[in-house]
Amino acid sequence: MNIILLGPPGAGKGTQATRLVQSRGMVQLSTGDMLRAAVAAGSPVGLQAKAVMDAGELVSDAIVSGIIGERLDQLSGGQGAIFDGYPRTQAQAEALDRLLEARGRRLDHVIELTVDENALVARIVGRFTCAVCGEGYHDSFKRPKVDNTCDVCGSHEFKRRPDDNEETVRTRMAEYRAKTAPILPYYEQRKLVSRVDGMADIDDVGAAIDAVLNG
Ligand code: ADP
Ligand code: AMP
Repeated sequence: MNIILLGPPGAGKGTQATRLVQSRGMVQLSTGDMLRAAVAAGSPVGLQAKAVMDAGELVSDAIVSGIIGERLDQLSGGQGAIFDGYPRTQAQAEALDRLLEARGRRLDHVIELTVDENALVARIVGRFTCAVCGEGYHDSFKRPKVDNTCDVCGSHEFKRRPDDNEETVRTRMAEYRAKTAPILPYYEQRKLVSRVDGMADIDDVGAAIDAVLNG
């Protein structure tokens, strides 16, 4: 199964993708994570992407579709993909169709996480992750069970993203409205879209996604 999780920054795509990786053995393909790894490694892609990401704007379609193609080539045929943060433009949506078709894959579901934009700034400015295993947390909504200790790997080191500040979030939301939300009709006409209430509790959102995938 190959699915897209679609929604504005902070909608819960990464949180739900992690759940699906654990429960279904699918593979999360997050272009944001891939780009952050490229920035950390100082690779040519990272050097090009850094300023754009810090500003909350979109990295070029050619770069992100290129890295998605490379990742798809590393999957075995039986591994399902969860596209998280990709595609974000019409050109990326069309590129993804070509990438999947060339590899004998097809898209099964596009899940739109619907959220109240007013809640997103609070979600994003409270977001942090384990610096060792990458598990995601939130200052109010998902605190580690033991203070300052990762539930998954026990590490005491956490990090926050440089672009998770209120000003950049506003730009990222504007980019979502202008360039990403308009790709929904492309999938709606193929009857691939299901809407899930992203404002529910994390476990309830997960259950609603499971209902779609089991449908
Ligand atoms: P995205 O990948 O769509 O940008 P995340 O999955 O990183 O979003 O979620 C953003 C922040 O909101 C994280 O700190 C996460 O713990 C928290 N979060 C995710 N889903 C929910 C939810 N349903 N209710 C409350 N907080 C949530
Ligand atoms: P995310 O982790 O999905 O919030 O993405 C963080 C940042 O990486 C975005 O604000 C963009 O600058 C960049 N980015 C991630 N995915 C894409 C994409 N599919 N297309 C363009 N830019 C992207």
